[in-house]
Amino acid sequence: MKNETLAAQGLGWVDDATRAISPPLHLSSTYLRDVDNGYRSGREYIRADNPAFDQPEALLTALEGGADAALFASGMAAATCAFLALTGEDHVIVPKVMYWGLRKWLTEWSSNIDLVDMRDLDVLKRAMRPNTRMIWIETPSNPTWEVTDIAAVAEIAHAGGAMLAADSTCSTPVVTRPFEHGADVVMHSATKYLNGHSDLIAGALVTKEKNAYWDRVLTLRAQLGGVLGSFEAWLLLRGMRTLFPRVKTACANAQAIAERLSANPNVAEVLYPGLKTSPGHAIAAKQMSGGFGGMLSIRVKGGEQAAIGTAANVKLWKRATSLGGVESLIEHRASVEGAGSPCPPDLLRLSAGVEDADDLIADLEQALEKATR
Ligand SMILES: *Cc1c(COP(=O)(O)O)cnc(C)c1O
Repeated sequence: MKNETLAAQGLGWVDDATRAISPPLHLSSTYLRDVDNGYRSGREYIRADNPAFDQPEALLTALEGGADAALFASGMAAATCAFLALTGEDHVIVPKVMYWGLRKWLTEWSSNIDLVDMRDLDVLKRAMRPNTRMIWIETPSNPTWEVTDIAAVAEIAHAGGAMLAADSTCSTPVVTRPFEHGADVVMHSATKYLNGHSDLIAGALVTKEKNAYWDRVLTLRAQLGGVLGSFEAWLLLRGMRTLFPRVKTACANAQAIAERLSANPNVAEVLYPGLKTSPGHAIAAKQMSGGFGGMLSIRVKGGEQAAIGTAANVKLWKRATSLGGVESLIEHRASVEGAGSPCPPDLLRLSAGVEDADDLIADLEQALEKATR
């Protein structure tokens, strides 16, 4: 069966006890021990495992083509756990351009880390050390949407005995399935496209194979306690059932916006891998299908003030951080990322929602016109 079908039906699971199509919500934090002192249910306590996770984890595993998935309380809880499951001696390589919150934590947490331009494979090869255990990528990467060649980086990682982990939040399994290109671990901020309605925070890790590293991830999740709530897991499954139509519409909208704004006299540059003129387009076309994602950025002529002015003048787009919801969001990213960010000051990040593309474009055009007048 196609992934569209699996997602729409949430794998088609039906509750045994009630025949419910939509899953029951289990809120119990603890489980009855048997008289022989065992746990025949396989469940003991909600920090280690929660029946509310079974269906969304199984669905995400299927959509990514992996062996297992683990939900977390947020994308950051998932990402930090992926690094904490390494040892202090392990060296990691991460991209210069990546989700800023994770970059900030990583540089504060570890000195055994190198930040490289993932588009330059020679630089990446030279950054490899005998104790490099993980290369982390994000493609396309926040907020300039640089494209990383997943297969090429996987080859370098594996040749050096390292794992490849991909933050696939912005691609989603609709557009890119990193395991097919050699990645070993996939991370999602499920707060974004997987849920898609800007009404919960969640994260996930998915593994290509069950191994000692994955055991450590699961143990750490239970020990650190950054677990998702039952109701959030239930809502997340509901959101994932419409993942495909939402993401396909967002991709089509982003492509239309990118093409139209490329011809706008008030826009200096459109950053979107779906544009044939984009430096990452050829690699993107190789590893993305059905669209190039719902995220793009524009650089406004007139610099930082014109960019902030454009965001101030939108009527339909919502000025807010985050991404991947059904509503379109616009954000002056440099104000968020602060000092040390590679984000240009004239950049506005756009998360295309599922509204009508012409409405979205008309709103941006009038705001650009007003701000750069
Ligand atoms: C939002 C985001 C994160 C962090 O996820 P939270 O759910 O906010 O903790 C990580 N990576 C990317 C690409 C994101 O967009």
